[in-house]
Amino acid sequence: MKFKTYPKEAAFAIEHVRNAALLAKQIQQEARSAAFTKEDKSPVTLADFTVQALIASALQEEFPKDVLVGEEESAELCTPEGQETLKKICAYVEKALPGKKLSAKKVCALIDHGKGDATKRFWTIDPIDGTKGFVRGDQFAVALALIDKKEVKVGVLGCPRLGSGGSLIISVRGEGAWQQPLDNKKAEWKRLKVSGRKKIEEAVLLRSYEKANASISEVSQLISQFGIKKGPVQMDSLAKYAVLAAGDADLMMRFPTERHPYEYIWDQAAGQIAIEEAGGRVTDLNGKALDYSQGRKLLANRGVLLSNGHLHAQILSAIKKL
Ligand code: AMP
Ligand code: MG
Repeated sequence: MKFKTYPKEAAFAIEHVRNAALLAKQIQQEARSAAFTKEDKSPVTLADFTVQALIASALQEEFPKDVLVGEEESAELCTPEGQETLKKICAYVEKALPGKKLSAKKVCALIDHGKGDATKRFWTIDPIDGTKGFVRGDQFAVALALIDKKEVKVGVLGCPRLGSGGSLIISVRGEGAWQQPLDNKKAEWKRLKVSGRKKIEEAVLLRSYEKANASISEVSQLISQFGIKKGPVQMDSLAKYAVLAAGDADLMMRFPTERHPYEYIWDQAAGQIAIEEAGGRVTDLNGKALDYSQGRKLLANRGVLLSNGHLHAQILSAIKKL
């Protein structure tokens, strides 16, 4: 797949997200249990740390000047309780990067390369989005995006459990969103297009699998107000964005909760560009564009609304009246 803008960045993201997502799938099969529970009570696994270290290592080689903003950090691994986990991560990283002699300290430094500041041009990585799904043996995604001049320019989603061989989606601003089976890099790239559905009562709505991840009462109100017949499809992670971009669903929204008042940039960027490049729309719940100039969180936005475009205005005006 060749692109006119950001060609090197797109090729880089395709290659490294594919490799990382395939490895994450292997880790899901071998060792999917949580290693720690983070301060916000969310789990983190061997795969989260391993993928962030691998993407950071590749980035340092190919784009040494570029900043990385990643979800994970190595602090827990440096405690006495973290040593066992750190050893296992090092083993996966070493196997993925044969010939590179990496000490445990260096692996931690790679993970912490993700502590960069979200400024002018930066990459953002969610090494395992949907960690709860990953631990359960369900959907998850590896998500990498390049943000330049406050806009998502390139995004790649690796969804190992979407479709029979998994799914890899590359989006480049102005050049479309394209999908290929994750496990077959020789297969043809297929251009993604959102659904053409205009009747809101027939819409297919997506929502988080985890009930705690979104306030449900507003969504239930909208479902009954519009007479949406199909029950919401529950799915973990940015795989939902891939499904919507492919036209297999029409709507998703996330109302903030007390525990999660704001979205993180890595939970949106690579999915947002896929939906937009497939012809859909992404805004916050007030209809405002997602603002990537606020650091690691989308502090200037409230929640998120994704749609095929046709249903967007109708839902926004209903949300306003809630
Ligand atoms: P999902 O699989 O859609 O529930 O999304 C999972 C991802 O979203 C994880 O990265 C969570 O840390 C993050 N997350 C979960 N709930 C929220 C929320 N209410 N607001 C912002 N981020 C959230
Ligand atoms: Mg996430």
